[in-house]
Amino acid sequence: MSSPNQPANSPAPAANFIRNIVEADLAAGKHTLRHWAGKPGTASDQASGPLDPAKIRTRFPPEPNGYLHFGHAKSILLNFGLAEQFGGRCHLRFDDTNPEKEEQEYVDAIVDSVKWLGCSWETGGETNLYQASNYFDWMAQFAEYLISAGHAYVDSQSADEMRANRGTLTQPGQDSPFRGRSVAENMDLFKHMQAGEFPDGTHILRAKIDMSAPNINLRDPAIYRIRHATHHNTGDKWCVYPMYTFAHPIEDALENITHSICTLEFEDQRPFYDWLLERLAEGGLLQRPLPQQIEFSRLNLTYVVLSKRKLIQLVDEKHVEAWDDPRMPTLVGARRRGYSAEGFRLFAERIGVSKNDSLIDYVLFEEAQREVMNLSDERRIGVLDPLKLIIDNYPADQVEECFAPNHPLKTELGQRAMPFSRELWIEAEDFMEVPSKGYRRLFPGNMARLRYGYVVECTGCDKDENGRIVAVHCNYLPETKSGTPGADSVKVKGNLHWVSVAHAYQAEVRLYDRLFSVPAPGARREGDAPDLERDFLDDLNPVSKQSITAQLEASLKDAKPEERFQFERHGYFVADRIDSKAGTPVFNRAVTLKDSWGRAG
Ligand code: ATP
Ligand code: MG
Repeated sequence: MSSPNQPANSPAPAANFIRNIVEADLAAGKHTLRHWAGKPGTASDQASGPLDPAKIRTRFPPEPNGYLHFGHAKSILLNFGLAEQFGGRCHLRFDDTNPEKEEQEYVDAIVDSVKWLGCSWETGGETNLYQASNYFDWMAQFAEYLISAGHAYVDSQSADEMRANRGTLTQPGQDSPFRGRSVAENMDLFKHMQAGEFPDGTHILRAKIDMSAPNINLRDPAIYRIRHATHHNTGDKWCVYPMYTFAHPIEDALENITHSICTLEFEDQRPFYDWLLERLAEGGLLQRPLPQQIEFSRLNLTYVVLSKRKLIQLVDEKHVEAWDDPRMPTLVGARRRGYSAEGFRLFAERIGVSKNDSLIDYVLFEEAQREVMNLSDERRIGVLDPLKLIIDNYPADQVEECFAPNHPLKTELGQRAMPFSRELWIEAEDFMEVPSKGYRRLFPGNMARLRYGYVVECTGCDKDENGRIVAVHCNYLPETKSGTPGADSVKVKGNLHWVSVAHAYQAEVRLYDRLFSVPAPGARREGDAPDLERDFLDDLNPVSKQSITAQLEASLKDAKPEERFQFERHGYFVADRIDSKAGTPVFNRAVTLKDSWGRAG
């Protein structure tokens, strides 16, 4: 996960409970005797290989049924970060055991997003990119082993009967009438299930554990179901598919995963995770030590929705333009918005990892982004709401160069020449005909500095027939040019940015704001009637996107897609990676220079 533009002062990773577990395991030598045959496999497959060169193995296991969002970034950075920190490997595994929902479009987008975050599954001479559906043969074989060892049986109750017999939190479940089937009968039925002889839902393979276990997940959970469906990878080879809770621990174990990190909602599944792997290891099918499941709290962010269902709704109902709309909390959206991968990393490091559910303020995310961009991004000038300034005492045919530093903190990035001429664009808000109290910029009789240029004295303005101001007039003080000996002979308080009218690049600029206008979209608010149900869509920010025509300094015409700059006084802007054409980039504002929402929102 090394990155060329890591801020020089980025802190060493802070301790957290998962790092502590890994460190203790390493100190105890827990994983040193594992073998690794160079690819996933059973105990005997792995035994044929050398000792595993990876100190630890983690994995990021997305289901390819949607685009990755900010929450996934937390998990990706945690898993790849641990592997990097401790001399391990992190696998990217597509958890594609469910035949219905996967699509190549999602697979491609996930690969791109993980790479964009700066994470690599190609380290230490290995390529650890896997598809869980390639393990179906092993999974079926393991299921048969469980049957043969008396640890699984075919149940033929209806779904309703199974539900009714599962019991509740306070009541134990009831044994299925099929629970006593012989090993031979179970094996025979499972073979016929695999042969496609039964319709969907008629039989199901269940682990045989304990119908009165206090943890409902141990009450004979289903492990294989009949689904006559075509799978994107295995086609029509299978008409039985493993349940997620059966497949996932096996995937981890086959891949030699040492620390299987997941979100808290899987905590209640851990006993089954351990039960299953223990049974299979007893049978000699899996190498020990077995992977350890560790849960952490998922990322929740204010002003954002991270549920796949809601994100799909935003796209399908066209509340946003696409999955990569810069307002979407997806990683493709973040990239297009101009957020930096480095900013994600700083944010993830700052919020840390714990078991406590918390709601993180979006401001923290934006602050991390600003901090990274402030260090990395070159400065440019953009006038977003242009008003013409005419310097009446400057020769009409004259053009001269003013020099602006590319980065105030990095002199090594040099400076660039900006053409200065008689007519300039300034921000409309930088002139007031009748100044408000404390206003320091241009108003008749006042002087202000044109940044990197001259001090000018405002003389008045022109208006159209509707009384709208169309141009501001001023005279310049020739001895005040920035960088020349007399520059500060005249002291002024206002400092304005500008671009030369004759040289400016007129561009489309999109100003993005938060997609939702309240911290918890769709949540009930104080004073709501007891029966009121809110819809997250009602909390959409009506002005989350504004498209404007701005006047930018000429050099921005050459910006490459995804090149990002600080527009002085305005924030961080990126050349849109989709809509920019060579010579006519379109800019997106990633974030303003300062927070305008405030902590309380
Ligand atoms: P689904 O509801 O479809 O399961 P999911 O968000 O869990 O959605 P997965 O593709 O299964 O999607 O997630 C891949 C990994 O990302 C999982 O290990 C999951 O725990 C982790 N993850 C998902 N959402 C978050 C989140 N908000 N914060 C941290 N990790 C997350
Ligand atoms: Mg999931």
